[in-house]
Amino acid sequence: MNKKEIGIRIGELRRLLERHRILYHVHDKPEISDEVYDSLMRELEKLEKENPDFYSSLSPAVRIGGDVIDHFEKVTHTVKQWSFDNVFNFKELLDWEERNLTILKKENIKETPTYVAEMKIDGLKVILTYEDGNFVRAATRGNGEIGEDITENIKTVKSIPLVLPEKVSFIVIGEAWMKKKDLERINKEREKDGLALYANTRNLAAGTLRQLDPKIVATRNIQIYAYDVEQTIDNRQKTTDYPKTQEEELELLSKFGFLVNKDRKVCKNLKEAQTFYEKWIEKRHTQDYGIDGLVIKINERKLWDELGYTAKSPRGGIAYKFPAEVVATKLLDITVQVGRTGAITPVAELAPVLLAGSTVSRATLHNEDEIKRLDVRVGDTVSLRKAGDVIPEIFDVFKELRPKNAKTFVMPTNCPSCDSKLSRIQIGKELSAALYCLNKSCEAQHLEGLIHFVSKKGMNIDGLGERIIETFHDIGLITDASSIYKLTKEDIEGLEGFGEKSASNIIASIENSRIVPLHRFLYSLGIRHVGEQTAKDIAKHFSNFKEISEARLEKLSGIEGVGEKVADALVSYFANTSNQKLLAHLIPNLKIISEKAIVDGKLFNKTFVITGTLPKLSRDEAKDLIEKNGGKVTASISKSTDYLLAGEGGGSKRDDAIKFEIKIIDESELVNML
Ligand SMILES: [Zn+2]
Repeated sequence: MNKKEIGIRIGELRRLLERHRILYHVHDKPEISDEVYDSLMRELEKLEKENPDFYSSLSPAVRIGGDVIDHFEKVTHTVKQWSFDNVFNFKELLDWEERNLTILKKENIKETPTYVAEMKIDGLKVILTYEDGNFVRAATRGNGEIGEDITENIKTVKSIPLVLPEKVSFIVIGEAWMKKKDLERINKEREKDGLALYANTRNLAAGTLRQLDPKIVATRNIQIYAYDVEQTIDNRQKTTDYPKTQEEELELLSKFGFLVNKDRKVCKNLKEAQTFYEKWIEKRHTQDYGIDGLVIKINERKLWDELGYTAKSPRGGIAYKFPAEVVATKLLDITVQVGRTGAITPVAELAPVLLAGSTVSRATLHNEDEIKRLDVRVGDTVSLRKAGDVIPEIFDVFKELRPKNAKTFVMPTNCPSCDSKLSRIQIGKELSAALYCLNKSCEAQHLEGLIHFVSKKGMNIDGLGERIIETFHDIGLITDASSIYKLTKEDIEGLEGFGEKSASNIIASIENSRIVPLHRFLYSLGIRHVGEQTAKDIAKHFSNFKEISEARLEKLSGIEGVGEKVADALVSYFANTSNQKLLAHLIPNLKIISEKAIVDGKLFNKTFVITGTLPKLSRDEAKDLIEKNGGKVTASISKSTDYLLAGEGGGSKRDDAIKFEIKIIDESELVNML
């Protein structure tokens, strides 16, 4: 290649790499493999190195990281970097709107604002400056007026463009963050090297951007979500097609090759924003990044500008924080709880505190080893956390706040319920971390087993709450799971605190639980290691409960998601004679439905209508038989009916079936189909 050809090749490679960067890092739709991308990048690198006159500080090749620096320069921001005020509930959010509307009214503006709700990512704010379409500088927020120059590090981040498709000058605000799985990966490597671990993704992002070696940053997979465009006033006056709404601004950023978070919503009003907020309280835990709330912004730029700023913040936007998931409180006592499997769990009794939207006064301490690891003592001030469905747990202790009379906890040697000696048990090849009560007739274990049996993910008998189960168990009304199905209204309505109505409700909810999916029944038995997901994994492979109870170890442990530990627990559960006795009493009360049997059934997806008197089967028996084999029975003939099962008599349905050209079968034909 001559000089001219080299120049052309370099230009083509840069454009091609930029196009594929956007496809991969902005749209998550790669068209070429990583290997091909890397080899094109290496070619560009080589050409640039051999031909220094074609060097560009903004070539895609700089993303592999430049030279090590010895410190970060200070940068004065050209546009002051504000932060948003916080609100914590819907009422405060409405108050914020009210204040804004009052200001707008004074200015005689009648337009009502709409809103954009965006994720408030738990990362690090970065300020990116572009001049004439070229990336020139990146800075941290710092104190809002002065930050640090992290340009060389940010150049390695693949989710932002180094050259824009148009020659515009503006400042882009973004949040730098890292994926949870990158935190895991990096911590694993650091552990091997004996380095201190990063506590969370935010610390990791901050630590990464402060690396003095951009080559390390390049390997860390930092992401940046761009969410704001700012221009100095005189710049803005020069631009006529400046976005008129926040949503247009986000679209513009995406068009320019920035990564923009798609999880956002344009809301007509704050009620819509509230619905979106509630949805994300739980959903946020499923994301790659940490989210600590929403940022609600007035969509119309004109209204935003009109509202201006308070001393600290723009009035047009607000951070709507999610309920706190980490709080500090005092540890008043440590008690022990006996679980349904006999495991003894130390429980922290806490000064009540609001956590993730509900008042918490107890938290798990897992086991004795955990208490020792935390070195937590009664009287300590502790950090408490909760994530998603997880039980609140203590994860840190403020030792500097420890009172002189703080007491070290001593694990009991005997069961607090039945006084049997506690011991560790063999689980696989290891001794358990927890102590166990091995007494099979321990009352506390029975009670916990019953509470588990009726729980939502189990038999879902919502009329039998924890308190009621406890009461019924204490007075001997319920002795085991099967006795629940022998309860009558009369048994309950005479009891103190129960009336006719509450008795009827309890009986109705017990009745409703009789038809139960196989996986929920399996879960409800409280077999060790068989949680909700494991129960689902197992149930998928069996047509009925009997097959599970008779399955051999090899068959069970061969199921995906079921290890030897689980298979072992299942086999020994079913081998136990008192469990066999319980099941023999329990199962006749229930109709356990296997999804596998339904899907595998010969009649899967077929719809039947039954009419007339059948020779051998009653109507209910016929219905049962069809349903067990995956079919459906409906009351009247329609176009979607597949068969009319007709016995003696049954006039008009027969006529309908003929009219719709639906196949008419008799009992023996049905039986032959199976
Ligand atoms: Zn016990």
